Amino acid sequence: MAKIHFSKLKIKDLENIFQENNIPKYRGKQVFEGIYNHFAPSFDHINNIPKDLKLFLNQNIDSDIPKIVEKSTSPDGTCKYLLRLQDNNLIECVYLPYQKRNSLCISTQIGCPVGCVFCASGAHGFVRNHNVWEIIGQLLAVQGDIKEKLTHIVYMGIGEPLLNLDNVVSSLKLINENFKISERRITVSTSGITSQIYKLADYKLDITLALSLHSPFQEEREKLIPTAGRNPIQKLFLACDDYFKKTKRRITWEYILIKDINSDEYHAKELSKLAKKYKAHINLIPCNKTDNYNHNAPSEKEIKIFTGILEKNKVEWTLRQKKGQNENSACGQLRANHLNEYENL
Ligand code: SF4
Repeated sequence: MAKIHFSKLKIKDLENIFQENNIPKYRGKQVFEGIYNHFAPSFDHINNIPKDLKLFLNQNIDSDIPKIVEKSTSPDGTCKYLLRLQDNNLIECVYLPYQKRNSLCISTQIGCPVGCVFCASGAHGFVRNHNVWEIIGQLLAVQGDIKEKLTHIVYMGIGEPLLNLDNVVSSLKLINENFKISERRITVSTSGITSQIYKLADYKLDITLALSLHSPFQEEREKLIPTAGRNPIQKLFLACDDYFKKTKRRITWEYILIKDINSDEYHAKELSKLAKKYKAHINLIPCNKTDNYNHNAPSEKEIKIFTGILEKNKVEWTLRQKKGQNENSACGQLRANHLNEYENL
């Protein structure tokens, strides 16, 4: 039997493998609970299964999960993980503990082909897509470290999820089934790849789609997101309309607030008009300065004026809490810091 990765299996698949090999079916549940509920880092760490079953599992099923290379924890508990994959590539994910939820922001690609100007992830180019187990492996590695269940997953780490659509969709179905995290607690973000939004809509998932808008103006958007020229704003909105019609899920617009670029009253008014027209919820994210992007977030007063205009226009908005504010807080920063050190291992 060729080795299949454990994270690709549903409980039924494992039970079938056991039955085919004269192993009692109930052992499947024990193994699943050991890995997903009791955070065992490998089959050898599951206490209630016999030695010969551990041997069978190790011989036939790959349970290798990404290794934690480094952790960077902020005073508010946000923890950025640098993980090493089997082929030595480095990836990042970020654990965000809130009062009643444990969120994990995961990566879908090694590097990013989009290259948004404000993002450290795109600055180092694109290597390849994650496969399904590399996506799921981020959850297993972090759950094993924090020894708690994750409750929310955000596909908003390194990479453009919709350019790795098949693996993203397969992984979120497995997250739903194996981690028992409902689709409503999963958010997938996109820089705005029009053709892929149509494809995602056809899956009719219950997830939240977050579109990175960042400017209500086409020309300005192109300066922030290099692929925006191929995905004009009006065509994007049509794709979002189609997404809403097929899924009945309202789309969130992500909007990075950058001082002196897109955060004045003029932008707030134009953004309000569009948000009202397309019934979007706006998620405002104060900009993080990176080595490659020397811009700050607006002041608190400027943000208040901006949100006041959204409010006056009855646009729903949230301001992302400033979490993880340390020197590595920008997306892709930790990986960028270590690329030279680890890339050639
Ligand atoms: S913001 Fe997202 S899409 Fe843009 S370069 Fe960074 S990882 Fe890629």
